[in-house]
Amino acid sequence: MPQRIAIVTGAARGIGAAIAERLGRDGFAVAVVDLTADSCAGTVAAIEADGGTALAVGADVSDTGQVTAAVAEVAEKLGPPTVLVNNAGILRDNLIFKMTDDDWDSVIDVHLRGSFLMTRAVQAHQTEQRYGRIVNLSSTSALGNRGQVNYAAAKAGLQGFTKTLAIELGKFGVTANAIAPGFIETEMTATTAARLGMPFEDFKTGVAAAIPVGRIGQPADVAATASFLVSEEAGFVSGQVIYVAGGPKD
Ligand code: NAP
Repeated sequence: MPQRIAIVTGAARGIGAAIAERLGRDGFAVAVVDLTADSCAGTVAAIEADGGTALAVGADVSDTGQVTAAVAEVAEKLGPPTVLVNNAGILRDNLIFKMTDDDWDSVIDVHLRGSFLMTRAVQAHQTEQRYGRIVNLSSTSALGNRGQVNYAAAKAGLQGFTKTLAIELGKFGVTANAIAPGFIETEMTATTAARLGMPFEDFKTGVAAAIPVGRIGQPADVAATASFLVSEEAGFVSGQVIYVAGGPKD
């Protein structure tokens, strides 16, 4: 079987970097996408150090022109991308009475519009190849979270987006699923602790106490789930939201 090409967005650090590195170990050639190509150098080096193939690509996923150019560059340099992980994300937390138009628009733009633009560009290759795997990063915040009306709306929106992709693209051999992580230790959650005025270590200990498995999540927990969902053998799993949260979520 020829090597498959995967694109992971927001892969300079955190969960995206862990997913990109895992897919590199799984045998994919990985396009590591983040705001600048330079910021992707560490992830690319880690994949190459493991014997894999990776390409750094700079693009703002919320910009149509940059997305079109990025996907074209991947197709030209690595081959047609058939695996897409929409992971790029930002936080602009605030209670609704303090939330600005920009807080709302920027979060919706990166998570929802970014996933839409990337998917629209990549599905052209997937449908042509009659094979594809799409994984969208949702969150337990989709179920509601104080201070996150923008982020919760985007992450809930991604669940409907995922299910619709599964319905539309299934006949082309393309599956679409969402991973909804709970608390994962990254710079994003460190920022949340800082916003709440708590040392990150204390914040993590407090959160872990309320998680059934008794620990917080790591990027590798999400990467392992993504690895399954993008595998060939996951072809009968589509339109699902998998909570990776150390316990059940409704
Ligand atoms: P992170 O450490 O903040 O990493 C996010 C990455 O996305 C950063 O490298 C960031 O680049 C990049 N990015 C931001 N805006 C972008 C854009 N417009 N175009 C391209 N790249 C962009 O976040 P994380 O914790 O790994 O989270 C990854 C995903 O998982 C996000 O979708 C997040 O919402 C979701 N998630 C995280 C958790 C958690 O507990 N950490 C829980 C549930 C869901 P810059 O550094 O340049 O901003």
